[in-house]
Amino acid sequence: MAALLFAVVAVAASLPSTNAFVASTSRKGVVLTSSTADAYSDLSSTTNPALPSPNSSRRQHRITTPLAATAATTDFSSLTPTSKDECDVLVIGSGPAARAIATLLASPINKSANGDTSSSSPDILLADANYDNRWFPNYGVWQDEWESIRTMFSTFNQPLNNECIERTWEVTDCFFGGSFDIPVQERMRLDRPYCRVDRDALRRTLSPKDEVETKFAGEGSAKYRVTRANHISRATSVNVYSPSGSILHDEFGSTILLQSKNGEITQVRAKLIVDCTGHESSIVLKDDRCKSIPPGFQIAYGFLVKVDESSIPDANFVGPYYKEAMTLFDYRTDHFVENSEEEYKANKAPTFMYAMPLDSNRIFFEETSLVARPALSFQECKERCMTRLKHLGITVIDVEEEEYCYIPMGGPLPAKDQRVVGFGGAAAMVHPSTGYHLCRAMMGAGNVAKAIRDELQGSSWNPDRAAARAYDAIWSPSNIAQRNFAVFGGEFLMKQNVVGLRGFFDGFFKLPLPLWGGFLAGWPGLPNNDRHETWWARLVYGLTFVSKLPVSVALDMLGSIAAYCITEGVPLPQSVTPLLGLPDGYEYKEKPTTVGDVAAKAEARKMLAESAVEEIVPVYFTEEDEVLVV
Ligand SMILES: Cc1cc2nc3c(=O)[nH]c(=O)nc-3n(C[C@H](O)[C@H](O)[C@H](O)COP(=O)(O)OP(=O)(O)OC[C@H]3O[C@@H](n4cnc5c(N)ncnc54)[C@H](O)[C@@H]3O)c2cc1C
Repeated sequence: MAALLFAVVAVAASLPSTNAFVASTSRKGVVLTSSTADAYSDLSSTTNPALPSPNSSRRQHRITTPLAATAATTDFSSLTPTSKDECDVLVIGSGPAARAIATLLASPINKSANGDTSSSSPDILLADANYDNRWFPNYGVWQDEWESIRTMFSTFNQPLNNECIERTWEVTDCFFGGSFDIPVQERMRLDRPYCRVDRDALRRTLSPKDEVETKFAGEGSAKYRVTRANHISRATSVNVYSPSGSILHDEFGSTILLQSKNGEITQVRAKLIVDCTGHESSIVLKDDRCKSIPPGFQIAYGFLVKVDESSIPDANFVGPYYKEAMTLFDYRTDHFVENSEEEYKANKAPTFMYAMPLDSNRIFFEETSLVARPALSFQECKERCMTRLKHLGITVIDVEEEEYCYIPMGGPLPAKDQRVVGFGGAAAMVHPSTGYHLCRAMMGAGNVAKAIRDELQGSSWNPDRAAARAYDAIWSPSNIAQRNFAVFGGEFLMKQNVVGLRGFFDGFFKLPLPLWGGFLAGWPGLPNNDRHETWWARLVYGLTFVSKLPVSVALDMLGSIAAYCITEGVPLPQSVTPLLGLPDGYEYKEKPTTVGDVAAKAEARKMLAESAVEEIVPVYFTEEDEVLVV
């Protein structure tokens, strides 16, 4: 490793200054002009006109997706960086995906458990001007998925402490009553524990100790470095960025400009860049070469509230919601006036209530549109939430937090041959039909970290190969085939009315748990994913599922499968049969070392040497490496 680093530094020293690795880690920089500084996008302070104005000091309004970088409108190319840094891998962003991959990349790996042979941990730098911002989503995870992630993290010597989980419910409830003869009050209980992640504890756990105020043992054990600065680029085509010079790639690595909140510019030289700036990354391009369906959107209005329990008859319940259960889906619509416009709209573009009872009279409610294109409005979700709570006799007496959930689902995968590795939302790792992402990203971080560490450790560093291997560790052909199946699922859900969705999920949860659990996981390494990993497993799942559905939903599904195969072509049949092979992946393809027809050129050389004609031929065939030089 040290020898490799020395070799790379030695080679880099001979490069022009923008490409050179530099020893300085100074973070001093220039202050930008006010116009440039104004253009800087401070994600935390951005407000959305759609949100109601706060009327309580404790109420928190948060936009849940980063706004696009403002680079396109600002010319940074004339700015001279005043500080330089270098690292093995630069991770951009500091959400769950970024901190998970940075933590595992920098970890003092448990070699025997992991098969990793590296002698030292790579130098990982994480960049985000908003590194100190809290995370805002209320992450919910299945307990068995979380435990599998803990096991994987421990093989990297990065245990996730118990405090990362704030609350566990031993059972999970659903309500699908109101159609197919299912009584409105009927509760479907799933014997599978669900957890609410303590987002602050997880964030601290996936942070280095000098960068956070730790609270519990085990926090702050990450070993990466942090720079509080953003990238300022936008990809205009594969490996090309605006403003010019803000990211440059060469055969040894990449050079990138980062800007801190006070306008300082730092130039960072990295062997590889991993972009974790979320679903709408501006430096990881989507693949627009192969046909793909645009994303759908999960929209939800959520709030963490205290409810009035004085008139609730049974202290074990909040309305119909059992306090010892997490309610995953309440798809009932009996809270609307019959034949009203509200009922009509809710039937056509359904939403469900997701409820997490916390301690005492605190409960998190979220009215959610599972997936829609175009997205449902937040206002619609909020109004339906209030109508439902009123109908259920639940009186809110205090609002602690509001959540505006916006999750792009499905859509194209990252373009091939990109040098910047997308990870997490930036690599479209969100489940295309459920919106779950946290466990997929955290589990996926293991394989990607291994692939990158392996490349860093190898005898010849090739950033193109490293990037391709990282992408392949995320989207192997087999994983793409599995995703294609789930993308169809998302499209089918999107066209259902509320009756269709109630029938769909009632049948879904009547499947054996490994079948439905595996579908919801949908990521290699998560529990029960083996029930969906092969075409055969998916075919068995599909046939079993159709047999559990109400007849009208089953017929709709069969018709939709046929229509989808006609309109979208290969992806669905490829995912459930062996006939069409696997989708194209991201594997690295060696560039050819010879140019043209070597034998023909050798023959020409021989004939030229033997020729009696002395006139100089205009084309010269060099023997060296059999490369044709014109
Ligand atoms: C409200 C909400 C609730 C959700 N609930 C769940 C759930 O219960 N379970 C689940 O599995 N999934 C859930 N998800 C989905 C998913 O987990 C999140 O979308 C997840 O946060 C995506 O992780 P990420 O790290 O890829 O991106 P993000 O969390 O979006 O992080 C992006 C990071 O990039 C940084 N950044 C942006 N631009 C730049 C730049 N130019 N330079 C440097 N840094 C930059 C930002 O500061 C941020 O730190 C939820 C999502 C939302 C929005």
